[in-house]
Amino acid sequence: MSIAICPGSFDPITLGHLNIIRRSAQIFDRVIVCIMHNAMKPNPMFTVEEKVEMVRKATERYPNVTVDWSDGLLAEYARQYPGAVIVKGLRAASDFEYEFQMNLINKKINPDLETMFLTASGKYTFLSSSVVREMAVYGADLTGLVPHELIGQIEEKAKQWRMK
Ligand code: ADP
Repeated sequence: MSIAICPGSFDPITLGHLNIIRRSAQIFDRVIVCIMHNAMKPNPMFTVEEKVEMVRKATERYPNVTVDWSDGLLAEYARQYPGAVIVKGLRAASDFEYEFQMNLINKKINPDLETMFLTASGKYTFLSSSVVREMAVYGADLTGLVPHELIGQIEEKAKQWRMK
């Protein structure tokens, strides 16, 4: 069985992420979306529990997609799924440089681990979680940026952030 692991911080999940997950689910038998609780990205807007629930909601229509999380290294996490491939989205040259470096580090830790890249859909090359957080905090319309069913929850959280 072919397995893809789609890692990320998903703070929150965007339609750009979902596009990569959906396309991975068409290529691989099973997709595991792994929410990385990343020490390098402090101060997240959403808790891991909230992110798991949001990604589950956004992917429930894809039967071969499951959601998990990790607070460790991705290369270590992937060891439990021998033969699994990391799938990441590439938006721009800046993504490429960072991902190339990450890939080399992952290979050093876990030499069997392969990473594949899917180019971002043209519609979403501008889209990142940080853009969504910023738009949400300023009360902008999130339609077309995040899964429709999550807009209310993101707006609610942004309201709490504004009051901080
Ligand atoms: P962000 O950069 O939005 O904070 P993450 O760290 O959660 O994203 O990214 C997880 C993965 O999703 C990375 O491989 C990233 O390149 C990819 N990704 C993020 N946004 C998009 C997008 N709009 N289109 C395609 N891939 C994306």
